Amino acid sequence: MSAHFHQLADAVLAGTPATPEDALAVLRADDAELMSVVAAAARLRRAHFGNAVKVNYLVNLKSGLCQENCNYCSQALGSSAPILKYSWLSESEALAQAGAGLGGGASRVCLVASGRGPSTRDIDKVVEVVGALKREHPGVEVCACLGLLKEGQAERLKDAGVDAYNHNINTAESHHDNIVQTHTYADRVDTVEKAKGAGISPCSGLIAGLGETDEQLVEALFALRDLESDSIPVNFLMPFDGTPFENTWELTPTRCVKILAMARFVCPDREIRIAGGREMHLRSLQSIALHVANSIFLGDYLTSEGQAAEADLEMIRDGGFVVQGSEEDLAQRAADPVIRRRGAGTDLLPNA
Ligand code: SF4
Repeated sequence: MSAHFHQLADAVLAGTPATPEDALAVLRADDAELMSVVAAAARLRRAHFGNAVKVNYLVNLKSGLCQENCNYCSQALGSSAPILKYSWLSESEALAQAGAGLGGGASRVCLVASGRGPSTRDIDKVVEVVGALKREHPGVEVCACLGLLKEGQAERLKDAGVDAYNHNINTAESHHDNIVQTHTYADRVDTVEKAKGAGISPCSGLIAGLGETDEQLVEALFALRDLESDSIPVNFLMPFDGTPFENTWELTPTRCVKILAMARFVCPDREIRIAGGREMHLRSLQSIALHVANSIFLGDYLTSEGQAAEADLEMIRDGGFVVQGSEEDLAQRAADPVIRRRGAGTDLLPNA
């Protein structure tokens, strides 16, 4: 069976797309075959991305206070998770937070705001922040993640210099209504299409561990392939107390690696990003997962703390990888990273 995964990699490298049956075989591989799965998927990762790891940095511009009811989300209507809640960061605060991540080695800043979708005034604010960020850090990639977009908003973001727009489909269409009722799967796809239509790189991914079946995980991945998502964040459910998914633990480290490998086989040339839940669910297999995925978030997440940025950079270096776009400075930066700690929306400075 182990040879099967290398044959699958051969076929994908030769241009034959993986099928849903192939994807299921990867997902259901015995743990004894884990390293064969990783070795085969790593060939695809190396073919398209070499040994580079893209490092992304989240800035939560607006936290909590959302009227949507996404069951997995600590910021949702009805969530009693004791997260930080604040309205829009000032431009200077947003720039300070973004600068911390860029100083730590990130090449993409993801500007995120909770809520169903942005108003015209919200877009005005983001346009200002993006303009200032690009002036201060020429060459930085900016991804916006502001919820469902209305007509014309993607074009305004594109004109402001936004490079990518994130809106996750989160799960299979056949499972979507079990986890959120205030908007539809079609609403989510529509926003990804609006971003694409405006010439913005689409970033859309999923969350594993929401009670979906294996077949639904495969369904979601093939939907992302069909959507032509350029970057695919793979989140692993963080079951916050105070949300409907509290105490939901469906994932193991080996399953998480297989999910990432499946994503690589199905979307071999797409950025596969290990997103939320990386530390919690992959645990000691994080560095093995880098042989399959080619992208991570540095430091903290939207409402939870990640491992220290220094540990992330050390893991990249120890695995023989390099931070995309900054190879020559990696060793020095790993010794003295500048990271966001818990500052946004509080009186604390970054790294306090
Ligand atoms: S719309 Fe976004 S912020 Fe609001 S509950 Fe859903 S995932 Fe959370």
